[in-house]
Amino acid sequence: MNSPVQMPDHWQTVLSQTISSPAQLISYLELPESLSDKADQACLEFAMRVPKPWLDRIEKGNINDPLLKQILPAAEELHQVPGFITDPLAEKESSPTQGLIHKYQGRVLVVLTGACAINCRYCFRRHFPYQENKLGPEQWQAILDYIQADTSISEVIFSGGDPLVSSDKRLQQLVQDLEQIPHLQRLRIHSRLPVVLPQRVTANLCSILEKTRLNVVTVIHSNHANEIDNAVAQAVTLLKQAGCTVLNQAVLLRGINDSVEQLKALSETLFQAGILPYYLFTFDPVKGAAHFDVPDSEAKQLIQQLQAQLPGYLVPKLAREIPGQPSKTLLIPEQG
Ligand SMILES: *Cc1c(COP(=O)(O)O)cnc(C)c1O
Ligand code: SF4
Repeated sequence: MNSPVQMPDHWQTVLSQTISSPAQLISYLELPESLSDKADQACLEFAMRVPKPWLDRIEKGNINDPLLKQILPAAEELHQVPGFITDPLAEKESSPTQGLIHKYQGRVLVVLTGACAINCRYCFRRHFPYQENKLGPEQWQAILDYIQADTSISEVIFSGGDPLVSSDKRLQQLVQDLEQIPHLQRLRIHSRLPVVLPQRVTANLCSILEKTRLNVVTVIHSNHANEIDNAVAQAVTLLKQAGCTVLNQAVLLRGINDSVEQLKALSETLFQAGILPYYLFTFDPVKGAAHFDVPDSEAKQLIQQLQAQLPGYLVPKLAREIPGQPSKTLLIPEQG
């Protein structure tokens, strides 16, 4: 019997139109052609990927646009800076079974896919060997067995890559499998897609998240107020209607959000869209992205100034991941 032809969802069609050629991006955004050479070189280390809905939020002709800077491969990426390495979080060491990272008590992180809808130039996973980390049915079964055997685990975090690059059908199956494990209480989804490609938040996805007995937390990733447009706010409304808690994590990035004004605008814009700030991460020292780094002393000052201007619930926790620690490390311990 022939299996029925699967029509792609609308979001999958939009995703397939992602731009990966710097020359095309530069011409579309009316930027100087001279940027193209270095961009092509930087792409050899880490490809460029920019979906259309993100592109449309970039101001044409502005080489300093904060959304552009997050995705345009830059000459600085080719600089070798001592201390900036390929696996800054030593994740390879905390993986008891392929695709699973168990670093903190009570929660495990599952790398569902290596794929992302967008390639952020500062990504600490830019050198991750994702090809070796394809999550097939056998690996998934091994992950389920691991979680089943450890009753201290109450939360599973879908991560990646970007876990929402997976189809609704696949996600539904994974959620159904997890629901069978009685000691699991929460499902967390770490995804940038509700921001980058808000079409991804389909009615079908919301229905899966609404029906599960697990409490669902969606942690989106947004670094600048300009990322949150009406379509993003609508996607978040749908997630909340499905009963999800929606939080944001951001990365503190030189030239993108390293001022009190920008951080304040980000928190306020997130809140208007129904999202609470969760973490603001200091930058992980990943090779090829040293130019985004903001020193800790400056980061702390920024947060203290932010605290003086915003209600406490709009101030993200300034944190970093230090390999070997039992949790994220807060740079201002009183924030805990
Ligand atoms: C960040 C992270 C978590 C989640 O930490 P929270 O403080 O609960 O947000 C869990 N597992 C791993 C491996 C992580 O890197
Ligand atoms: S969406 Fe997240 S995992 Fe993917 S490239 Fe950006 S920062 Fe990295």
